[in-house]
Amino acid sequence: MQLKIRNINDVRVFSVAISVIAMAGNYVLQYLMLPADVFERVLFSSEIITVMLAAPLSYYIGTKLLDVNDLTVQLEHAVNHDNLTGTCTRLSFYHRLAQMEDVQLVTIVTDIDHFKQVNDKYGHQAGDSVLKQFANTLLRNCREEDVVARFGGEEFIVLLQDVSLEDGVLAAQRLCDRVREKKFMANGQRLHITASFGVAEVETVSEVDDAIHKADLAAFRAKRNGRDKVYSYDPELDSDAPHSQAAE
Ligand code: GH3
Ligand code: MG
Ligand code: MG
Repeated sequence: MQLKIRNINDVRVFSVAISVIAMAGNYVLQYLMLPADVFERVLFSSEIITVMLAAPLSYYIGTKLLDVNDLTVQLEHAVNHDNLTGTCTRLSFYHRLAQMEDVQLVTIVTDIDHFKQVNDKYGHQAGDSVLKQFANTLLRNCREEDVVARFGGEEFIVLLQDVSLEDGVLAAQRLCDRVREKKFMANGQRLHITASFGVAEVETVSEVDDAIHKADLAAFRAKRNGRDKVYSYDPELDSDAPHSQAAE
């Protein structure tokens, strides 16, 4: 049995339940230990004393359990969500992946184009705001069952469940279009933001890292070929050459 105290009402219920248990315990104990005439005489007063002790004490313990529950919820949220963008962390990405059944998975790697220039031109805070708006665009244009995770500074992974590679490419194209069309705002100014996308099929859940690597290579080819593009992994075109040598 799991005891969860989520709100002040649960605290009240907890307090009443503990008080009733204490009163019942007191009753049974006195019934077994005391002669019948003494039992009858002291029962009422001893039950009053029991409830006067048990009710405030259990209410206090209930409020402490409520604090613990609130902290647990906050902690779980902090561990599972990137605090800037609200997307999944790497940890929760793998946690969600582990819960997935045998479904067809496609991974999309996306990286904001020339993001450094946003920071350089408008400042780090504006960069943060663009990151949030970018992440929101991804989240709003994905389904509930898809996982959007921030893996690096301005690099995100989208894991699509139950889709073919072709549909994954279409989904990535839709995300690419939405980002290009979105009115990004920073310091009261409208910014034109684009991102590059790479798509790869996940053969089996245990090979997701391999698929991310392939999608990363495809995204890198999109960067090389002018950015603001979607490419799916092609073993002939996507090599493991170091990124820095091929793109500027
Ligand atoms: P490319 O089109 O090739 O991806 O160019 P880029 O400028 O986007 O890529 P680059 O890797 O040169 O720069 C990424 C920048 O992202 C550098 C780093 O300062 C910035 N960055 C990483 N994390 C954060 C963050 O949390 N907030 C802000 N504001 N900037 C970040
Ligand atoms: Mg970038
Ligand atoms: Mg990057």
